Amino acid sequence: MGIVPSLVDRLSPAPRVCLFLAFFTFVLCTAGAASAVDPASQERVWITVGADAFEMLQHADEIQLDAQPLRAYQEQDEVVITQVSALDLQSISGLIHKYFERCSGFMVHPDLDHAVETLNRQHAQRGATIEYLLDQQTAMAALQPRLQAENIRETIERLSTDFNNRYYGHPSGQAAAEWIRDLWQGYAAGREHATVELVQHAWTQPSVILTIEGSHYPNEFVVLGGHLDSISSGSGNPDFLAPGADDNASGIATLSEVARVMLTQNFRPKRTVQFMGYAAEEVGLLGSRDIAAEYEAAGTEVVAVLQLDMTAFNGSAEDIALLSDFTNSTLTSFVGQLVDTYQPELMRTSTACGYGCSDHASWHREGYPAAMAFEARFGQHNSSIHSTGDTLATLGNSGDHALKFARLGLAFAVEISTDELGEVFFNGFESGDLTAWSVVEP
Ligand SMILES: [Zn+2]
Repeated sequence: MGIVPSLVDRLSPAPRVCLFLAFFTFVLCTAGAASAVDPASQERVWITVGADAFEMLQHADEIQLDAQPLRAYQEQDEVVITQVSALDLQSISGLIHKYFERCSGFMVHPDLDHAVETLNRQHAQRGATIEYLLDQQTAMAALQPRLQAENIRETIERLSTDFNNRYYGHPSGQAAAEWIRDLWQGYAAGREHATVELVQHAWTQPSVILTIEGSHYPNEFVVLGGHLDSISSGSGNPDFLAPGADDNASGIATLSEVARVMLTQNFRPKRTVQFMGYAAEEVGLLGSRDIAAEYEAAGTEVVAVLQLDMTAFNGSAEDIALLSDFTNSTLTSFVGQLVDTYQPELMRTSTACGYGCSDHASWHREGYPAAMAFEARFGQHNSSIHSTGDTLATLGNSGDHALKFARLGLAFAVEISTDELGEVFFNGFESGDLTAWSVVEP
């Protein structure tokens, strides 16, 4: 509506810019824990956003409620710091999704210093903290055949039809999170080392975490996550329909099937494995930001993070696309080896999705090694997301494509949670040099 037509023509896929955007989105989320953004407040908030999206927003009537044009406070490497009204955050989310297909695409900061720090850290990458080894073929041969596409399909169906939406500020979004908690508690029942909890935030919808405690290194964590919320662009109705079957009931269903097999087969990892359903990803990675920032503040050792956001739409010639931006390159290449080893029949590729495109950016921002496996090349992914058309029917009523990601997730959890090598120390951030993790040989 408020977009200059010629600008719109130039705004189709821009993966490089999206990269930067993803990073900032993460920052937005991190800021929320300390100072939650009240969507109804009149306050102005600092955000970081890709330069391309910033240019689009400058011309968008929708976000100039207070009649002040957007100004760039600082720009670095195609990322801009600007200040907006908190009232405009939902519109900004919708516009960036519309023109750049990014899930969130911006980050809200508690203050200007935090925004500047985020600009300075955007290219940082801390080294992997342990050596990732491929040596669990026996366990995988026993576990992998038990993963069932039908279970994934059924979980997607429940999440996308039993709730109007899974919006972060809506009671329906809270009910969906509690449903996931109950599903995971069912899998964990009778397992002494497994627990399920809700993580409360400054908004209605909680996150959900399933923990399988490690037998040897309980204080080292392997995290597999995906967001549990859904959104539908352009609706002012709080009861709007947002089935979110692919985005991201599919990721939650995929994670659930991995957890089901590990727990029902009583697989005991050496490191602690956590499955996370993040709240409020669609409005700026808020849930994962809170959690990752809390882990970092506590000095928690997270040795690897896998993000699954959209796994069920088979849109490319290749089966699995590994994200190349705002991820850890060592871990990402190991994830590629997991595909080649345990699903040699598959084709994989790499793709970039842009700044702040999903929750892995939250972990990456805190310096933890994170990887993300995606359903297709970016741009060939499901185009029905963030609409009432994101249904199981659009996924061919099938969990077959998602099953490939469940096999990958199982391999990730089993292989990394059992590696013995080294003792991990975290020495904290060095300014401008995030290689502060070190491995000491035993
Ligand atoms: Zn998503």
